[in-house]
Amino acid sequence: MSKLSLLAVFAHPDDESFGAAGTFAKYTGQGVVISLVTATCGEAGEISDLVQVRPEDLCELREQELRRAMDFVGVKDVEILGYGDGHVPEADDDEIVGRLVQIIRVKKPDVMITFGPDGIYGHPDHVAVHRFATRAAEFAGKVCHFREQLSGGLEPHSPRKLYYNILPKSRVKAMAEEAAKQGMSFQMASDLEKMGVPDDRLTTVIDIRDYFDQKWEAIWSHRSQLPATMPFRTVPKEAVKEFFGFEYFQRVFPPPLPGEPLETDLFAGLS
Ligand SMILES: [Zn+2]
Repeated sequence: MSKLSLLAVFAHPDDESFGAAGTFAKYTGQGVVISLVTATCGEAGEISDLVQVRPEDLCELREQELRRAMDFVGVKDVEILGYGDGHVPEADDDEIVGRLVQIIRVKKPDVMITFGPDGIYGHPDHVAVHRFATRAAEFAGKVCHFREQLSGGLEPHSPRKLYYNILPKSRVKAMAEEAAKQGMSFQMASDLEKMGVPDDRLTTVIDIRDYFDQKWEAIWSHRSQLPATMPFRTVPKEAVKEFFGFEYFQRVFPPPLPGEPLETDLFAGLS
């Protein structure tokens, strides 16, 4: 029996650490092979006062930070596709979907994760990655798409499960209230109304409290992206743990059955 595997597709270095690093740590600890693809190296994001870096070196630095972050959670296979940060929506559909289809056919993941249509808070790159990765997950299993890859020796492959990494609205509200209690302004307070998806889309909650230290290290590896206003630069780790003790997913396929209880395992039903 080959090992179970997971492919995660995000837009920028750090998306994976905020959204799913605890999940990565949990499953790599169980022997699951995880591959991470990001569309960009995050070269357009703001530069923290924690680091001194020339703009022309930023891409390389952010790739190093990403690889270091993933080391903490056991993910060795990291690929940056090299699209322009802030310009993913302008990517040629066929080209980027074809690259993702090829990655799926090569790596043959059992489970795939990407953004939902909301992109957590509406970032255009996140929304575009959602669109491209979702299409790739569908096309990779069909012989009629990107046939040239098949004549090149690859086989069609459908991930057995597809999940969107989401934040339920109730959780956004709870995080904002917790932040206020701690005397912090919530990082994205101005976007709170836009953040999160209706709670009924939530199908799967991963308890990552046992892996929180690894997630914390992963987040902190992205030092060049942690601005002075970031709440957890000043807040004790234990308080932050209240924010990040769980990670949230919407199972897209197989679709949830009516009344199905919340899943607590992305690999439930697979072996
Ligand atoms: Zn992002």
